Amino acid sequence: MTAALSLVHKGKDVLLIEKNAEFGGLMNSFERDGFRFESGARGLVNAGLVRPLIKEFDLDIEILPNPITLGIEDRLLKIDGEQSLYLYADVLKDLYPQSKDDVDAIIRAIHDIVEDMKVLYGVDNPLFSKEKRNVLTMVPSVVAWMLKFLRTMYRISKMSTPFEDHLDALAADQSLKDIIGQHFFRRTPAFFALSYFALYNDYIYPKGGVGALMDQMAKAVGARGGEVLEGTEIVHIDAQNKMLKDSAGKEYRYHKMIWTGDLKGLYTMTSDEGMPRRSQRKFNTQKQAILASRGAESVFSVFLGVDLPPEFFRDKASGHVFYTPNRRGLGTVHTTELQSLLQDWDTVQEEALYAWLEKFCRFNTFEISIPALRDPDAAPPGKTGIIISTLFDYTLTSRIRERGWYDEFKSRLEELFIATISSGIYPDIGDKVLFSFSTTPWSIYERVGSSEGSIVGWSFEGNIPAVTSMFNMANSVKTALPDVYAAGKWVYSPAGGPTAIMTGRIAAKKCQ
Ligand SMILES: Cc1cc2nc3c(=O)[nH]c(=O)nc-3n(C[C@H](O)[C@H](O)[C@H](O)COP(=O)(O)OP(=O)(O)OC[C@H]3O[C@@H](n4cnc5c(N)ncnc54)[C@H](O)[C@@H]3O)c2cc1C
Repeated sequence: MTAALSLVHKGKDVLLIEKNAEFGGLMNSFERDGFRFESGARGLVNAGLVRPLIKEFDLDIEILPNPITLGIEDRLLKIDGEQSLYLYADVLKDLYPQSKDDVDAIIRAIHDIVEDMKVLYGVDNPLFSKEKRNVLTMVPSVVAWMLKFLRTMYRISKMSTPFEDHLDALAADQSLKDIIGQHFFRRTPAFFALSYFALYNDYIYPKGGVGALMDQMAKAVGARGGEVLEGTEIVHIDAQNKMLKDSAGKEYRYHKMIWTGDLKGLYTMTSDEGMPRRSQRKFNTQKQAILASRGAESVFSVFLGVDLPPEFFRDKASGHVFYTPNRRGLGTVHTTELQSLLQDWDTVQEEALYAWLEKFCRFNTFEISIPALRDPDAAPPGKTGIIISTLFDYTLTSRIRERGWYDEFKSRLEELFIATISSGIYPDIGDKVLFSFSTTPWSIYERVGSSEGSIVGWSFEGNIPAVTSMFNMANSVKTALPDVYAAGKWVYSPAGGPTAIMTGRIAAKKCQ
């Protein structure tokens, strides 16, 4: 979306193709029975990018605050500026009184990262500034920003070890380390994981939902003379003749192409026929590396319509909560215990699976999003919609589907999610649930074609066939195909909303 908008803004002929009926991919909102929900990211991290992008392209969208609450058992802390880090330390010390030194060590590490994040995300990225049209005013701000940025980048490169190892070096209390770490994808680089404390202050919510911003972006592409084609899935690429083919057999000729779908998709639907031998070799080497790699963990989400007014929920916490019902933490439930479950899968009985899921829910951390607490129009009067989610394994979901347990698994997990919040943060809401439905890692794979249902690109547990250094981000958009660039969560790691925007912008620059 960023790439299309940037190019059409420069007067290029742009065709934006999307396989779904709506644009935005994993940034999307939808309505059910008068309740509005996000199917992907529950809010946006501004990251010095989103607000400037809205300004640059004059998008007609109001931005609302998106305060975050961190909750462990009955301790709920609304994050409100940097000082909240020290209130969070107090909460942790109350919960883990035997590990106060561990808490101090972790909080000190987070504090240092928050300082770095101010440089990285705290200043509007000058690449999106309207002032850039005046080169003279732009140069000093870009140079100052770049100097700070480079210093920060150097420090980040020193903290690329997985957060698990980093926390092991700082603290001994396993439950404490779990509570800090189980929000994150396994083996996430320490800087990225621990930087989330800074990002909690940086979340925003577009009025009308995350999808409303995407709608505005698609509209702006059309309004500036671009062509937008939804409901059109690309299934074949002839890179030699620069032709795309959709699932209905219609062909499209391109001059330059930016691919933002799954990279496994790009490399499998492109034939190497007719390529010079050297290009063929380069293409096939890259293809092998990509096909051998896996996406990061996915998400299981439960969507609820509740017959209670938003005020009931506002009394407890803000509209976006990271909630852990039990201070014990997951321990090995989501690592070695999950691996054993998968290894013994052929002999696993349904009840053993549900016993594991029960434990998984009891000790896990949940992201809870209540759109109506940020935008009152998101639910019918007197009622509230809630999204509850947690990271979830794609392979386990696939095995469950193959066994024919999928529907039962979904409704059992919905019940467990409801029971978890009903016996914890929102007492007794179980009786007030009007409807519930859920999406799984498989739903994400099916909807946006993301390998292993990944929401943030490549897994940190294996080989990453993408650029991982910020210094090299400008090269992340290159592919092994002539005049084909790529952008989004598969080209740069660690990824998410901000890197999708950044790489979209870089890819657009390469096409100008
Ligand atoms: C529950 C959830 C919570 C999240 N929370 C956060 C968060 O807090 N912070 C954060 O930074 N990120 C978050 N993310 C991740 C973030 O939303 C994504 O990383 C980001 O939106 C990825 O954007 P993208 O453009 O790379 O890919 P996508 O959003 O997947 O877009 C790719 C698009 O290409 C289309 N497409 C694919 N193949 C084809 C084809 N063959 N033909 C035509 N179209 C095709 C897809 O339908 C899709 O619309 C979250 C995601 C989820 C699901």
